[in-house]
Amino acid sequence: MKAIRVRAFGPPEVMRLEEVPDPAPGPGQVLVRIRAAGVNPVETYIRSGAYARRPALPYTPGNDAAGIVETVGDGVRGVAAGDRVYTSETVTGAYAELALCDEARVHPLPGSVSYAQGAAVGVPGATAWRALFQRARAVPGETVLIHGASGGVGVAAVQIARAAGLRVFGTAGTAEGIALVLREGAHAVFDHRSAGYMEEAVAVAATGGRGFDVILEMLANVNLARDLKALAMGGRVVVIGSRGTVEIDPRDTMARDASVVGMSLFNMPDADRAVVHAALVAGLDNGTLRPVISRELPLSAAPESHVAVMSPGAKGKIVLVP
Ligand code: NAP
Repeated sequence: MKAIRVRAFGPPEVMRLEEVPDPAPGPGQVLVRIRAAGVNPVETYIRSGAYARRPALPYTPGNDAAGIVETVGDGVRGVAAGDRVYTSETVTGAYAELALCDEARVHPLPGSVSYAQGAAVGVPGATAWRALFQRARAVPGETVLIHGASGGVGVAAVQIARAAGLRVFGTAGTAEGIALVLREGAHAVFDHRSAGYMEEAVAVAATGGRGFDVILEMLANVNLARDLKALAMGGRVVVIGSRGTVEIDPRDTMARDASVVGMSLFNMPDADRAVVHAALVAGLDNGTLRPVISRELPLSAAPESHVAVMSPGAKGKIVLVP
């Protein structure tokens, strides 16, 4: 099969398309023929060598894929050859024509959902669902601000929160991003590049000066200090993404009995993962979760995809098509 291989950590160009042997499923494993692979920011951090988790070299990047089950190993009962599936992690890497997965990391892809959309669920959908309901414990009727709503995680969070009966506010950095977030269900959207947008957001969202019950934060190093001032009593900020340090006033948490909680999908226990993916599959099936694809690129354009995913102007997901 063809697969992207990384032989040394470094810039996007270290990813090269190579011919490698087809993997074969062992006990409990599933071999998936990939029709689309999702590109996530974490894959750029890992490729650069700067991330805490560094795979043994050489390796094939990627967690999220969607495709068709080719074969299954001994003991696999939940899926069979020919099934449409998406993955929430792979053993051999998703930027490839085939990927080996543990059975628990393969989930049914409803017929109404494209493979490109299926490749946008594993990391972004699970992050959004876990942040909202397992970390922030959001409930219907609460008000949520999704900081960075135009990206892969953000669009999923907007759709999921809206379907669950929350009041949904988002931010994006371009006119197209703002239009997208509104189209996908936010009640109002603010431009995170304009001065004073947080004050405007709080004013629009405020019910008797309440502020936000939940904030999902994609860039905590830029926004956390202001987030804490925008929370309602008992409000929760979930730190999903951060690319540096930030100074906060801890008194802002005291004044509101507020919580700041972090999350990494790598820490998610298996039992929680089963809950999350059951909910995501239901959302795909009933149309409340509708991943938005901004660009489809060939597998050979993996370097370009890593530059694009780290550039401003997100409009949903970038996927690679083998
Ligand atoms: P993405 O598709 O590249 O989207 C990035 C988002 O950040 C865009 O909406 C972008 O908006 C927004 N952004 C840019 N500047 C911002 C600012 N000043 N304030 C608020 N938002 C801003 O990435 P993603 O897949 O959604 O992931 C988002 C972040 O979460 C990344 O840092 C990623 O590494 C992290 N993440 C963490 C986990 C975890 O387990 N903790 C899981 C998944 C992702 P514009 O482009 O419109 O400006």
